[in-house]
Order: sequence, then C-alpha cells, then structure tokens
Amino acid sequence: MTSMERPAPGRLLIDGGWREALSGKSFDTTNPADESVITSVAEAGSDDVDLAVQAARKAMLGPWGKTTAAERGKILWRMGDLIHERLASLSLIETLDTGKTLFDSGKIELPMAAAIFHYYAGAVAAVGGRTLASRPDAFTFTLREPVGVVAAIVPWNFPFLLASWKVAPALAAGCAVIVKPASQTPLSALEMGRIGLDAGLPPGVLQILPGGGSSAGMALVRHPGVDKVAFTGSTEVGKNILREAAGTMKRVTLELGGKSPNIVFADADLEAAAKGAFNAIFYNKGEVCAAGSRLLVERSIHEEFVARVAERAEQVVLGDPREKSTRMGPVVSAQQMEAVLGYVERGKSEGARLVAGGRRALEVNGGKGYFVRPTVFDGVTPEMTIAREEIFGPVLATLEFADLDDAIARGNATIYGLAAGVWTRDVTKAHRVARALKAGTVWVNAYNLYDPALPFGGFKQSGFGRELGLEALDGYLETKSVWLNLV
Ligand code: NDP
Repeated sequence: MTSMERPAPGRLLIDGGWREALSGKSFDTTNPADESVITSVAEAGSDDVDLAVQAARKAMLGPWGKTTAAERGKILWRMGDLIHERLASLSLIETLDTGKTLFDSGKIELPMAAAIFHYYAGAVAAVGGRTLASRPDAFTFTLREPVGVVAAIVPWNFPFLLASWKVAPALAAGCAVIVKPASQTPLSALEMGRIGLDAGLPPGVLQILPGGGSSAGMALVRHPGVDKVAFTGSTEVGKNILREAAGTMKRVTLELGGKSPNIVFADADLEAAAKGAFNAIFYNKGEVCAAGSRLLVERSIHEEFVARVAERAEQVVLGDPREKSTRMGPVVSAQQMEAVLGYVERGKSEGARLVAGGRRALEVNGGKGYFVRPTVFDGVTPEMTIAREEIFGPVLATLEFADLDDAIARGNATIYGLAAGVWTRDVTKAHRVARALKAGTVWVNAYNLYDPALPFGGFKQSGFGRELGLEALDGYLETKSVWLNLV
C-alpha cells in the first residue's frame, strides 16, 4: 500500500486535525460478510459536536467565507480527481463496511461520487442573484449567500455517495459541513474528510463526526450554531429531526424512505422489463431508498412475468462481496437482517405466496455473515404489510392491476413518493403515467438511473428539498434582497 492508500485514522476530523473523542468513547465497525470487527472508531458526543460547530463557524468567518466561486470550484474538482486516484482503496473500504459488491462500489458508486464533485465544480458558476428593474427610484437586486454551517446526517446504504450528494453542493455554495455518518458505516466518510484536507479545504470547512444518531446526530440537530440539517434516512427519524429543528428554526431538507411502484404493462419489452424489475429491487441488496419494491404487473401477463423475475432471483450468487463471481453481498447488519426476515414472516402469515428466497442463506461463508436470499412474494394485496412498509432489503412484493387507471391508483396508494418505474412501448401511456404518479423521479423503460445534473427527492412522506442538480444548490443558499435608494 502506498501512503495515499493507508486508511484515514479512526478518529474525529475536527478543525483540520484528527482527534480522539472528548466523549472518551469509541465503537467497532464490522464487516457484514463475516461478522468480523474491521476497526474501532472514535465516537463523537455533544462536546465534540460543540467543538466542531465552533470550528465551522470560525471557518465561515475566515478565509473560506471569502473564497471566490472559482476557488471553490478548483477544490471541488480536485476532490473529484482524488476520488478517482484512490478508487481502489475507497471501494474496498466501502465494500468491507457495507457488504456491497466491489463492482457496485468501485465501478458505479465511487465514480458517481467523483462525477458529483466534478459537476458542482462547474455548477458553482451558476450561483448568482438577479437584478430587478421593478422601480425607477431604486436599484434592487438579490444576493445568494451560503446558508452557513450544515449538518449532513447520512445513512449506511451508500455512505460515501450520499455524503457526496450533500457535501459537494454545500461546499459549492460556500457552506461549512459537518458529516455524521451512520454508525454501521463510518469509514468512507473519514476518507472523504481526508480528501477534503488533501484538496486544500481550510480547517473546519469539512468535518467528520462518527457517532450515534440519538447522541451526536441529535446534538447537531439541536445545536443553535448549526444553520441547516440535510438528512437522508428513515421517515420516522426524519419526522423527529423536523420536530427538533423547529426549536432553532434551522433549515431542513429530508430525503426519506420509499415504497416505489414499478409498473409493467403487457405491451412492454418483457425481457428488458424483467431484468429491470429485478435490478430495481435487488440492486445493493434492496438497500436503496428508491428501490422498486412494489412490482405492479398488468393482469394478462402477471403470472408469466413474476415467474421470470423469480427465476432471476433464484439464480443470484451470494458470497463474499470482494469476489468477482458474487452478485449480491450480505445485508448491512444483524439488526437489518432480523428486520428483513421479520417482514418475510409477516408476508407469509398475511397470506402472500413466496415464489423465491425467503430465508437467511446459511450455506454461504459457513453460516457467517448476514446473507439473505433475494425474495419474491406473489399474490400480494395492497393492505398487506409488505405492500405498505419500507423493508429496505431484498424483498419484492408483486401485485396485479387491471388497466391504466388502476395502475396509477395503485401506484399512488402509498404514503411515500420518492420514485417510480413504468415499462411500456406505448409513448402516450408512458407520458400519462409519468405525469399522474406522485413521485420525485419517474423512470420509463429503465430504473435506478442517476445523474449529477438531475434533481432527486421526494413527494409526500418521502421528504422535501432536492439533492443533485442546481436544485440542490438552492438548498444551501439564502436569498437576500438589496435596495439602493436612487432618490
Ligand atoms: P435511520 O434513519 O435511523 O439513520 C439514518 C441516519 O440518521 C444515521 O446516520 C443515524 O445515525 C442518524 N440518526 C438516527 N437517529 C437520529 C436522531 N434521533 N437524530 C439525528 N440523527 C439520527 O436509519 P437506520 O439506519 O436505523 O435504518 C432504519 C430504516 O430506515 C431502514 O430499515 C430503512 O427502512 C430506512 N432507511 C432509509 C434510507 C433512505 O435512504 N431513505 C437510508 C437508511 C435507512 P446512527 O446510524 O448512528 O443511528
């Protein structure tokens, strides 16, 4: 290993230095593929949070607050380059911590994170106010200013990528960011902190505080020195954050859960749709907020189509996520595995028909690791728990529909509104369904496509605010109106 590839210290990154936690605590992070401890990481408490917030406020008043957009763009570009340079070590760390395959971390997610830093390196130029010629006796214009200190609270399913969705636009806007990674997966966020330092971010601009959600996370949410919370995670915690943030009226954006419908019409290219439906739910072991976890299939093709998806599920090779032959790794933790298997039991007891998987894969890795066979339920009805609740694991609920209106009504029959898929060869039908679905993203004849320029976020209880695109920048900026009296 070169020195560049040595992992970041398992300490807190505060004010440009790696520190032991004032809390005196640390916690272990484990490899879900074999249950072994990877390393121990310092655990931030409320005193650490306070120190980091002070450093971030100091940074905003210091040189960082005076950087030009071009200077910030240069640093963001360098961060994107460094992700590419360190791709091998970063993707290995991500795979060890999450259980996702090396292909997914190294070929898809880390390159996407680099692309996001590169995108915002350019998008920084789009930050600007307006001149308003509304009255002759005054010169009026707007300024866009950074919202200030941002707490980015991120989950464990895409630790580095989802942190980049927040960190890159926040830095582009000129904010200082404190990242609180999920307890299960703290390691790659520490690497992001090191990348920021190496790219030239001044102390205090990007700080990393591993720690518990109800301790460090909540301390950030309540801290009066934090101006905004950008959160991705469960709807339940999102609601809690919203309530707590009201105390200081800080800005909040929430990217929450989903129960996304993936709608297949009889006129679709069924081979492409079956592959698409499979990937929509089973990518990253189903641990995807936008997962197509409700497969709605037109009645006339339902049986045959579900059989195709189930067959694909049965063929999945589970194993060590570092092996090339592995198509799916373990779910992230024992707790998550128990939750997923609990839903499987619930599905069976409520009368759904199991057509693939439905069990822990104890035959993999000598029974070590949290492997769950990709699971497909047929005969699911809308009132069943597995049709309504976010499972966040490799479990697909399939339902049928009668016609276009029925498909739309069933698609929208959820408290969530994050994403949806539609498969049809009929362009008119595709447009009608895409417009009628209450979801922040609709994919037609595709699923799970993302681009740094395309905003992503939720309708309904999937949250508010947008990640990615120029829309994400808005979430890290305040608008100030200035009047110059000309009389
Ligand atoms: P959480 O929503 O609990 O966690 C997400 C992040 O929020 C983590 O960093 C967590 O820290 C932190 N957090 C937890 N509680 C608080 C709090 N009170 N104040 C501030 N921060 C907090 O998700 P889980 O990891 O527990 O997963 C549970 C379920 O959430 C999943 O099964 C899935 O349904 C859903 N989920 C949805 C995601 C999405 O992208 N929409 C992503 C992840 C989960 P810590 O890890 O230390 O608890």
